[in-house]
Amino acid sequence: MASEIKKIAVLTSGGDSPGMNAAIRSVVRTCAYMELECVAIYRGYQGMIEGDFKEMDARSVNNIINKGGTVLKSARCEEFRTKEGRQKAYEQLRKHNIDAFVVIGGNGSFTGALLFNKEFGFPVIGIPGTIDNDILGTSYTIGFDTAINTVVEAIDKIRDTASSHNRLFFVEVMGRDVGHIALNAGVGAGAEEILIPEQNLGLERLLDSLKRSKKSGKSSSIVIVAEGDKTGKNVFELKEYVEEHLPIYDVRVSVLGHIQRGGSPTCFDRVLASRMGVKAVEALRQGKSNYMVGIRDTKLVLVPIEEAISAHTAIDEELIRVSDIMTT
Ligand code: ATP
Repeated sequence: MASEIKKIAVLTSGGDSPGMNAAIRSVVRTCAYMELECVAIYRGYQGMIEGDFKEMDARSVNNIINKGGTVLKSARCEEFRTKEGRQKAYEQLRKHNIDAFVVIGGNGSFTGALLFNKEFGFPVIGIPGTIDNDILGTSYTIGFDTAINTVVEAIDKIRDTASSHNRLFFVEVMGRDVGHIALNAGVGAGAEEILIPEQNLGLERLLDSLKRSKKSGKSSSIVIVAEGDKTGKNVFELKEYVEEHLPIYDVRVSVLGHIQRGGSPTCFDRVLASRMGVKAVEALRQGKSNYMVGIRDTKLVLVPIEEAISAHTAIDEELIRVSDIMTT
């Protein structure tokens, strides 16, 4: 029943992403607005098991909307994967009279929340927070926009060096098993080639493309490689392969790494996080559970968690086509 929810907890879990703080702020402020009690859980499910809780009010989240990372800290918690661990977490929540929780995280965090709900009938709502944009049912996850802007900014700088020295750069970007960061940032930064796990074009095609690029008069090239791409074993192997087969190129590698996860969130991520936080609390108030808040065609939607964790979001074929046309 909607009226039974009086106290809501919020936690961040799994890998951090820019905009998580804006989502925490939104959940806390929405609770204050609706005169619900709100509790922050520190260190994800680990803190839930250990009772690492703090009462929050609207002022507890001052000046965090612009900060990257998560003020609540995040953690990977093996104990929550066990029935005993989840039992301990449940006892902590009951002890503090918490009626529901909002978890900001990725697939693993949602899987844990769903199991928890199945076992204890405890209301849960998920907010997608990951830079990879791989969660099914939402066009955007919180942190993705910031990450692609960080990547584009970095590639713009690398391009300065690449064109000054007529070099070829392989730039490895994050994204785990999916190529959303690579494809979007690659198109945005005008990369000559984009290698993503969803599309294994092979080494021969890479060589052909680089040869064509050289012939057409390009003095420098940027190839974006998603970390999950299978064209070569890794980005360094790609460099060796190209140097061996196309000695005309002076090749460099840049692995962007964790700079992609940090930094102040973009306005897009802040707005998205603010909207999703409101929707999450509203959903709990309406007696809903086991949903992830998503966004499709600019509208917020509630996606069953079961569906959200069932697969990764497919790559945007239209954007692949745009990229192919842009690299001619
Ligand atoms: P990211 O996308 O950044 O990896 P995530 O939420 O997928 O975020 P995970 O490390 O996979 O990150 O999961 C976060 C936490 O969720 C785990 O440390 C664990 O506590 C819990 N969790 C994950 N999978 C399960 C599961 N199958 N059963 C119970 N709990 C789980």
